[in-house]
Amino acid sequence: MSGSLEALTEETCETRGDSSSPASGRLHIAQASPAPLPTDPANTRAEVRMGRADSETGLIWTTTAFMALFHLGAIAALFFFSWTNLIVAAVLYIFAINLGIGMGYHRLLTHRGYTVPKLVEYFLAVCGTLSLEGGPIGWVGTHRVHHQHSDHDGDPHTPQEGTWWSHVGWIISGKAMHSETIGLARYVPDLTRDRFYLWLSKYHWIPMVTVAVALITIGTLAGGIKVGIGLFLWGIFLRVTLGLHATWLVNSATHLWGSRRFDTKDDSRNSWWVALLTGGEGWHNNHHAHPTSCRHGLAWYEFDPNYYGIWLLEKLGIAKKVQIAKFVRS
Ligand SMILES: [Zn+2]
Ligand SMILES: [Zn+2]
Repeated sequence: MSGSLEALTEETCETRGDSSSPASGRLHIAQASPAPLPTDPANTRAEVRMGRADSETGLIWTTTAFMALFHLGAIAALFFFSWTNLIVAAVLYIFAINLGIGMGYHRLLTHRGYTVPKLVEYFLAVCGTLSLEGGPIGWVGTHRVHHQHSDHDGDPHTPQEGTWWSHVGWIISGKAMHSETIGLARYVPDLTRDRFYLWLSKYHWIPMVTVAVALITIGTLAGGIKVGIGLFLWGIFLRVTLGLHATWLVNSATHLWGSRRFDTKDDSRNSWWVALLTGGEGWHNNHHAHPTSCRHGLAWYEFDPNYYGIWLLEKLGIAKKVQIAKFVRS
């Protein structure tokens, strides 16, 4: 991405004492204090392997049917365009993909890159369920396994085992998405101790259904059944389908194409276009090098809206202990 930035081999995460804006210049080590993943020490010897050989089951018809339904619904939505539908879909996308997945499931719950009051944490987790990517315990557990085995045996979705597999194959023909909570429990003791997360992981579909019913009802009351259906198709089917592919691209494209700033032990890449679609998750080589940093776009030109959201929460006094891979001007 830039010849002016050095590849580093050491951790650069630190809990930020100040909140200065992104600085340009050469990248240097600040202070090494990476927060370890909150796995249960008593169980760390027993690893969960979720590679293709361990989890491929053949096509899972219910999951495949759901995915097909959402894709068909997304196409149908195109015949119901309105500016209102577009704006509602965009807002819901931001709540699900940026607040829910990027800021919530990923940077907060999986890597604990910052802290927020419990109620805010729960709100971000509920937003995450609006992405149709399952509940927080399964998502976080699977992603921690991904970091443990990235692009090696046991990785749930490495393109080393096929590009299609890494994008959607592992969802529709692998058992990773159907792992019992207990199988991943040792990776997520922080969440399985919490009754709300146990409940939300079991009933992750409730927020989505609630939003869907609200969209149909409000649309129908406002302009008739056709308006209600249009709002529903855009706010749920089209918006969810685009969000799924955006997230899946982080698993497929950013382990295949893009630049590598850091010489990590995996194939992770920095991809500007995946970053645009996901709110900054595309700076994936940066992320694998510094997983606990809640800032993924490390240079000023690396657009990272999910971090800007965390920065805003910090400015408002809501986010604390913000872990950040820091730049120092040379
Ligand atoms: Zn990765
Ligand atoms: Zn991660």
